Amino acid sequence: MILMRKKFTWQLLFIGIILTVLVTTLSLYNLRNTNLKSSIQNAQVIANVVKSGLTSHMINGNMDQVDTFINSVASMKNIEELWLIRSDLVKAQFGKENLRNPKDEIDLEVLKTGQIKYQLNESFTKTTMRVTVPYNSILENGIDCNKCHKVNYGDTLGAVSLKLDISDIKQVGLEITYLIPLMILLSILLILFLARRVNEHYVAVLEKLARSIKLAISGRFKEIVYEANKSNEIVTLIDDYNLLMSTFRDTSVDIERRLQGFIGQEANSSQINPLEKSKDIIKNLSNLYQFKKEIELDNTKIEIYNRLSEVFQNQFKIKHFTLIEIDNIKSKLTVVKSVGNSFYCKDNISDEPEFCRCARTKNDVISVDFHHSCPYFEKENKFHYCLNVEISKNIYLIINFVCETKNELEELKDKISFVKSYINEAAPSIEVKILMNALQESAFQDGLTGLYNRKFLEEHSKKLVPQIKRENLNIGVLLLDMDHFKAVNDEYGHDIGDKVLKELARILNETVRESDLIIRYGGEEFMVLLVGVNSDSDALNVANKIRENVRENEIDVYAGNKLKKTVSIGLSMFPQDSKTLDGVIKNADIALYEAKNSGRDKVVRFHESQVSSIDLF
Ligand code: GH3
Ligand code: MG
Ligand code: MG
Repeated sequence: MILMRKKFTWQLLFIGIILTVLVTTLSLYNLRNTNLKSSIQNAQVIANVVKSGLTSHMINGNMDQVDTFINSVASMKNIEELWLIRSDLVKAQFGKENLRNPKDEIDLEVLKTGQIKYQLNESFTKTTMRVTVPYNSILENGIDCNKCHKVNYGDTLGAVSLKLDISDIKQVGLEITYLIPLMILLSILLILFLARRVNEHYVAVLEKLARSIKLAISGRFKEIVYEANKSNEIVTLIDDYNLLMSTFRDTSVDIERRLQGFIGQEANSSQINPLEKSKDIIKNLSNLYQFKKEIELDNTKIEIYNRLSEVFQNQFKIKHFTLIEIDNIKSKLTVVKSVGNSFYCKDNISDEPEFCRCARTKNDVISVDFHHSCPYFEKENKFHYCLNVEISKNIYLIINFVCETKNELEELKDKISFVKSYINEAAPSIEVKILMNALQESAFQDGLTGLYNRKFLEEHSKKLVPQIKRENLNIGVLLLDMDHFKAVNDEYGHDIGDKVLKELARILNETVRESDLIIRYGGEEFMVLLVGVNSDSDALNVANKIRENVRENEIDVYAGNKLKKTVSIGLSMFPQDSKTLDGVIKNADIALYEAKNSGRDKVVRFHESQVSSIDLF
């Protein structure tokens, strides 16, 4: 508004300057012409006075007094010089060749042409007018020049020459030209004053509107206060504007509040435009909705962790983080995803997850200024932000974000509520996947010993057998049966019987390789699949090792009594002994039967001959 006012003033001044220049130029031009004309008229009047004087001197015959007369005229104010000149015609009649000769070109010209001639001489300090007025022979008003002069009427007899100082007249003109710009300036000031008085109200309202609109752009919708004496149209305009502002404010606050409820954003909206902020929240909500849809279709929890990791990297531009699952009951820590360089507390908490401050306090653990709030984060010049998300009652997801600069950490803090909204969205899906895994595992697990069950063997063999064939490997199938196990139950009870079975499971776990599969096949029958065993003699060695470990193992029964048990083992090789795994298992069972029959605590390798001997029973 102030700018507009300035512009108006400048425009008016510009017009004023142009007007001043025009009017002054015109006035000066006019003044010059007027000066010129009045100077010539003056000169003519003086010439006529001189002429009349001359004529009367001539008629009265006292021409010897002429010079006195001329001098008296020449002494008049503003006449610098005055002299008379005679034409050659007069000189020829009256003689005196050198009397009153022409002084300059103008004199000569006038005598020759009989026309008045003038010349204006201007200098910085002085302006003079040089005029020569001719006397031509006439016969009018009773005057007949040719009474004395022997010339024709119209011939030039002589002339009077004058130099007039016209500086005074010019000075008056110049004074007027100073007045013109002054007058115009005063007029402009008057116009400005009047215009301001008339527009004052409108300008004040416009200025308030401009300020309020500026505030509205930055998100602060404020009403305008106006004085009571404003005109009707201004009051209506401001009332409408105020209604618009209050509607904007209420709506934007409402939108922001509702959206924050969705996303859990902190309400520090005083500086930020709420509409801009709402736009951001809506964008994030739509991304979040998309994310939610995608994880619903994910198969495993690893897929969900990968997707979460992509969001951290691509959407939030986080470069270093580790996702850690902590199982409180098992006191087990598993790194499920790691990107960049993070998890600097690994050595301290891997074996003892309860040391993790974030897991223990269930709060965010963040580097504060230049120290780490967690004693186990051992990386100077780096900053951590750890989050704890409860996946299920005893499983926590700890996310360890690592920032390289303090600035990066501050940026992360700003966006952490959005980051958390993604994690919170993913948590229930991760829980479902963990539960499903547990359920699946329990379906394939034997409750007493923790070993795989027969159902697992059925499922797993579908994948295992083709793989073994593809890779041209062997499986050594061991079928084990506790010798005289029934007697343990009978003598010590089922609990001790169970204990003996668990001990056998432990020995099997400790004796065979990690890659071998141990299955509780039936009540006190166990199966070991020696996956990728080189030969049947290697398999026999493993079987004998098991047999020996079992027979040497002492089991506490009660009151310091110890119990020792033995096992019988049947061995058959896949694919050597049968093309199918089922066939090999049957063969191992035949070999086991043989081991029992031949005295127990034995390992028997299957042979074709055993088949026919069984047939005999
Ligand atoms: P053999 O040397 O011929 O194998 O004699 P055995 O007594 O071991 O053979 P049998 O098959 O007659 O006995 C198996 C017993 O194992 C019968 C059953 O009560 C017992 N049993 C099966 N499953 C369990 C179990 O889970 N716990 C306990 N305590 N006993 C079991
Ligand atoms: Mg048995
Ligand atoms: Mg038995």
